Amino acid sequence: MHEVGLMTEAVRLAVASAQTAGAARVTVVRLRVGALSGAVPDALAFAWDVVRQGTRAAAARLEIETIPAACWCATCRREFECADFFNECPHCHELSGELRCGRELEIASVELH
Ligand SMILES: [Zn+2]
Repeated sequence: MHEVGLMTEAVRLAVASAQTAGAARVTVVRLRVGALSGAVPDALAFAWDVVRQGTRAAAARLEIETIPAACWCATCRREFECADFFNECPHCHELSGELRCGRELEIASVELH
């Protein structure tokens, strides 16, 4: 499962930041997950429960912020929310493939104790 690898890496990074800061535990890990990132939030949460065991992040809480996908229309000079990589602008009906957000898959912040 793709999500297990992602969460293994997220735990590794969170634990590394705890070590660097001299903190005993990771208390919260916040992720930003774009609608088109390819990762499923439920699967991330499931993987998280497995991979954090036995680490400094074992008791940490996972918070997932989902980011809606948005395309940029060069004609209207505005963003519109979209569900795929190529989309028709709802205002002028031009096709846009200029995705502005929605591919995020990153750690937004980590809280340590
Ligand atoms: Zn447009």
